Amino acid sequence: MTTQTAFDLIFRNVLLRASAAPVDIGISQGRITAIEPTLRSEAVEVDLKGRLVLPGFVDTHIHLDKACLLGRCGHDHGSLGDAIRAVSAMKRDFTIEDVYARGARVLERAIVHGTTRMRTHVEIDPRIGLRSFEAIRALKRDYAWALDLSLCVFPQEGLTNDPGSEELLIEAMRNGGDVIGGCPYTDTDPNAQLERIFDLAQEFDVDVDLHLDFDLDPSWSHLDEVCRQTERRHYQGRVTVGHATKLSALPPERLQATTERLVKTGVSITVLPATDLYLMGREATHNAPRGLTLAHKLVDKGVLCSVATNNVLNPFTPFGDASLLRMANFYANVAHASVAEFDTCLDLVTELPARLMNMKDYGIRPGNPADLVVLDTRDSRLAIAELPDILAGFKNGRQVFQRPRAELFPPSDAAKPRGLSPRA
Ligand SMILES: [Zn+2]
Repeated sequence: MTTQTAFDLIFRNVLLRASAAPVDIGISQGRITAIEPTLRSEAVEVDLKGRLVLPGFVDTHIHLDKACLLGRCGHDHGSLGDAIRAVSAMKRDFTIEDVYARGARVLERAIVHGTTRMRTHVEIDPRIGLRSFEAIRALKRDYAWALDLSLCVFPQEGLTNDPGSEELLIEAMRNGGDVIGGCPYTDTDPNAQLERIFDLAQEFDVDVDLHLDFDLDPSWSHLDEVCRQTERRHYQGRVTVGHATKLSALPPERLQATTERLVKTGVSITVLPATDLYLMGREATHNAPRGLTLAHKLVDKGVLCSVATNNVLNPFTPFGDASLLRMANFYANVAHASVAEFDTCLDLVTELPARLMNMKDYGIRPGNPADLVVLDTRDSRLAIAELPDILAGFKNGRQVFQRPRAELFPPSDAAKPRGLSPRA
């Protein structure tokens, strides 16, 4: 038993994924300072009664700027091209206030679902200018009390074929862009776009996060060029590709070769189940392919992967609540994950995306920020399986939300359950 009194707050009876039995966590000045079976202190206490605590969910790929557009779409949602055209038409009318309000709505849902870190992609081009970027930058500042937001700026509609985009991208990078992205499949010269995006990444010394290979034709892929550029520029561990749906269409021997290449080049994969399932396989009249790359299998082979939200309530994905726990459950179900793989599925929305974003201070360890999310379960595998309520969240040791547990109100004459007594 340790004698220590310098804590501001102690969480008692905390189940951590790494600990066999519940522990106490001591917090001082917003940081975790001790994790032990029993801490002695006079500090304020929160008894979690053996419930699971995670360091928060990490969403590596979301689009706050084009979320919550369902009410103004006025078209039937169809292919990927239809979705890009629909949003392209709408974004000319986006104002900073409009993007801020829609982004705030999604951020607040993400926060109460336990997300503590997020990378949002922000479209930059001559139609939208820097209006979305300015709105998202304001959201980053205004919600820093609950969530760390990172901005990945990217040209959704092409770079080399869209004059003015590059100058705007550079301006965004000079004014708060944290990561640079790209979307070579919408460019008339995909490899030239990749070359330029990597040039800019090196110039600003930032990581790269690309939208890639968003179809199910395995006969070609931009992934080869991404791996080549990554090696050429010594960018191993700093490059991510989102979607990579083509990997789901590769036969095993080709998938094995690509997997080895990803491991060797340190290129990470983000799978976006809601969008990938919604937009892929639409040409099929029956037995539609799922178009979902099996991230947990790639993780087993040594590829760094995450599962993330992508779009919320827009033509790309007319669903969404910004819950990464629900997304991991959805992924595990569609990806045929076995019970033994549920832990990896939880990793895909926690530890692995934190590594993918090169975070050095994520995790429940002494010295790290006290970012803690309480789940109403006593078994981490059940977090994926039964989607427990998320009861409370703390950021830097300060409580940011609370959800009361659901309560039943039986009629008074049924107050005592009679159970199943044997028949007389
Ligand atoms: Zn995306």
